[in-house]
Amino acid sequence: MRKNIVAGNWKMNNDLSASKKLAKQVAKLVRKNKVKGTKVIIAPTSVNLERIAKLTRKSKVKVAAQNMHFAENGAYTGEISAQMLKSIDVKTVILGHSERREYFGEDDALLAKKVDAALANKIEVIFCFGEVLADRKAGNEEAVVGSQIKNALFHLEASAFKNIVLAYEPVWAIGTGETATPEQAQDMHAFIRKTLVDKYGAEVADNVSILYGGSVKPANAKEIFSKPDVDGGLIGGAALSADDFLAIVQAF
Ligand code: PEP
Repeated sequence: MRKNIVAGNWKMNNDLSASKKLAKQVAKLVRKNKVKGTKVIIAPTSVNLERIAKLTRKSKVKVAAQNMHFAENGAYTGEISAQMLKSIDVKTVILGHSERREYFGEDDALLAKKVDAALANKIEVIFCFGEVLADRKAGNEEAVVGSQIKNALFHLEASAFKNIVLAYEPVWAIGTGETATPEQAQDMHAFIRKTLVDKYGAEVADNVSILYGGSVKPANAKEIFSKPDVDGGLIGGAALSADDFLAIVQAF
């Protein structure tokens, strides 16, 4: 059974004290509002991961990293490995975010290696992909999304998808205030699921959670999440407010 998931990507925001404050607020609101049936994830910056993982350990809020390297260790200045995340009890990582692709040159081949490293260390992957505006304007969005998924994930065995969450994030909707319409999100999520059916069969496809990301707010979350192939959201800006984030969690 696929899960409903709402994950907050804090990006390069919040120093230690702000991270602790926001994590505590989110954990408290999740507890007070008796959130059930939706997995809630927050992704602080890597330097604060250990503290926030400890702080939320007894809550229902899970912690994810925003990135990791594919190598186990070695001469990769500034990087962190899957094994390092595991050692501080971080069991989920976001990979392939459009900002990593755009500003840090991450491509499908590199991401395939990162996915392999995460899964080998039993770290769940939230795998992000999505088309840029020019692709959508040219009607190429399905071709682009299909190839991002195939290139980074289709070398995997079917069983690997138990530890993979997909996040469709049209790049033109990230941080722009412009959201895909619920219908656009549903159409693409249905295409993604069909792509999985064709490769791995219906059972695998039905059990993979597919999140939508791109300017999700309390005001639009309910309609987007009501679509049958949308299993939750990856939230950027609105995840920096505990109240807004909780309202999105409660949109299910
Ligand atoms: C994101 O960065 O993954 C994202 C969806 O950001 P925002 O919600 O701010 O558009």
